[in-house]
Amino acid sequence: MVELTAWPGIGDEDLLVAVANTAHGEPGEPDELADAAGMRTWWSGLGLALPADGGPRRPDAAESLAMLRALRAVIRGLALRNNGFETEVDTAVLDGLTLRLDLGGTPSLRADGPADLIRDVGAATVTALLRANARPGWPRLKACRGEDCRWVYVDASRNASRRWCDMAACGNRAKSASFRRRHRTGDATAAASASASA
Ligand SMILES: [Zn+2]
Repeated sequence: MVELTAWPGIGDEDLLVAVANTAHGEPGEPDELADAAGMRTWWSGLGLALPADGGPRRPDAAESLAMLRALRAVIRGLALRNNGFETEVDTAVLDGLTLRLDLGGTPSLRADGPADLIRDVGAATVTALLRANARPGWPRLKACRGEDCRWVYVDASRNASRRWCDMAACGNRAKSASFRRRHRTGDATAAASASASA
């Protein structure tokens, strides 16, 4: 189920997945939220409109980007929790995101203060998070169990049992890693049962 709002014009879960996957995996991987120009390129690449008078204009873009990256970590942490992993998420930097109610059309939260793409996307992401979290499909928003992956996806499997972003890549890699680990310890029985139960 996808709910569209006038802005940003993307479904809640799709927005959460898009924000979460602006960076993933090991440190040093590309980060689309590394700077304001990259953030704007990423947003435009989603095919979404800029807010009416939006653009990274505030002088504190670095602070806004840090807030958005923290929000990204929150989404990934919650998505990991939906996949059976507990993670600690530091939300202190989110205290800098002040929001105001916008009840003009679809009720939503907007960034308080001057128009700013980064903060508007942050506010839209918070709104999407609150709405998606309240829907029955919330547990399907997951982060891949692959340690060097953590790709966030919506599990569309029939019984919501998908644990990996892509079985062909992360799933098989994890299985073969656990096979090797067990084989090294000489526990052939465990290895065989891991292989059989996969
Ligand atoms: Zn993965």
